[in-house]
Amino acid sequence: MTHQNFIITIDGPAGSGKSTVARLLAGQLGLDCLDTGAMYRAVAWILHKQKKENLSGEALIRYLKNLEFVIEGNGPGQKVWVQGMEVSQEIRTSEISRLASAVSLKPEVRLVLAEKQKALGSRGALIAEGRDMGTVIFPQAEFKFFLNASLDVRARRRYEELTERGQKVYLEEVKREMEIRDRQDQERTLSPLYPAPDAWVIDTSHLSIEEVVQSIRFRINEKAKPSTDDFQSV
Ligand code: C5P
Repeated sequence: MTHQNFIITIDGPAGSGKSTVARLLAGQLGLDCLDTGAMYRAVAWILHKQKKENLSGEALIRYLKNLEFVIEGNGPGQKVWVQGMEVSQEIRTSEISRLASAVSLKPEVRLVLAEKQKALGSRGALIAEGRDMGTVIFPQAEFKFFLNASLDVRARRRYEELTERGQKVYLEEVKREMEIRDRQDQERTLSPLYPAPDAWVIDTSHLSIEEVVQSIRFRINEKAKPSTDDFQSV
């Protein structure tokens, strides 16, 4: 096992703590982070903005293949550009959450984003977070984690995140939308949200972010013990 192919996947539903954990872990381990939710959000945003929501088949594939994304960082300071337009704040609204979940059902969208994600993974070590990282995109990943938490806890986290961003939202509404989105993500035919059989599942409901990060690092160290020096500093 070398650093070159070292991939950690973190999957889970909205509000499970994936992004924050991925960001902290990436900082501590000196790895890049791939927020695939931001890619689905950026696609939803541009299809909506350019009124291309009805594109399908080959035309949609061509359109998506030519899209240029830049995603820098993860969490509050994250910057996202699509076709040169900065959309970091725009893609974090409830409307785009809904639209992202809807476009993620389209096979054309999944196909093109999967290609882009695999290409990024082949460049080197990475922490990839999303819904299907451990199951579909990087089934060969060395370390797979699946974060979960109760709906109440996840809704409150998302509510606080949106409020901190200055958005006017209601907790009950955030919770209702989250429930719908979860169901859609879990029940879709293509790449549904579920833990890979070899993923380590962590219920983050009653854990702090630091505790989750610690527990992931502990797991990585345990699993890597008989291996090379690569992981001794983890
Ligand atoms: O993680 P985030 O909430 O930003 O993701 C937005 C939406 O993008 C999810 O609700 C899901 O429908 C979709 N998504 C996906 N596969 C991924 C990442 C996100 O289908 N790997």
